Amino acid sequence: MFKLYPSLLLFLFHCTTIGFHQTSVRESMSFGEEATVRVCVITEPGIDPEEIHSLFEAWNEELSLYRIKTQSIPLGIMERPGFYGSDIIEYLRNKQMPEFCDRLLYLKGRTWGDIVYEVFTLGLFVGVGVKLEIQGAVETYTNTKGYIKAKYISTLQLLSTSPKSTLIHEGYHLLGCGHQLFMKECYERIRDVKLLLTDPNRDPNFFPNINANGRKILKRPI
Ligand SMILES: [Zn+2]
Repeated sequence: MFKLYPSLLLFLFHCTTIGFHQTSVRESMSFGEEATVRVCVITEPGIDPEEIHSLFEAWNEELSLYRIKTQSIPLGIMERPGFYGSDIIEYLRNKQMPEFCDRLLYLKGRTWGDIVYEVFTLGLFVGVGVKLEIQGAVETYTNTKGYIKAKYISTLQLLSTSPKSTLIHEGYHLLGCGHQLFMKECYERIRDVKLLLTDPNRDPNFFPNINANGRKILKRPI
């Protein structure tokens, strides 16, 4: 199957991995002091606090590599603002981030509509090698707001995605990383974002970021 669809492999890579870790490169870098990122969380009904806790536990384990800790701050429970991921991103972009938030995350659940959609896109995937189902996304204007599918039993076990791996993936975008084959670029980006903590122009009550175009985000976006 993979031989028939070489692009499929790339697509899988894109979906599941932000890049291959380079342990010796990372260990030779300094990430400074430990810093905390306050992540405000809006959840779709049906996601319980233990699930959120274990998601953040997994994310924090990954981020300990960079001496970063995330703190989840529940902001509310809300029906999803639209069926498609783009609707959720649009909502988040326009949503005011309270002063105690550095990042905004929406945890999407799973409805019967989603299951039907998954089955439909599974058909497309098998048929033409396209998969429309997206596990999560982060807006690229400020890289501070995003969503993940927090609850799903993968229709496609072969993708080996899980809410935890999705959060870790989108979590890298929330720290300014893009996709790369090897992680060096991302390590450097995280280091640079942490260096912005000492930028005199940043809002001292905001964990800065660098967006997809390399622009410094020193103040909390709306
Ligand atoms: Zn991504």
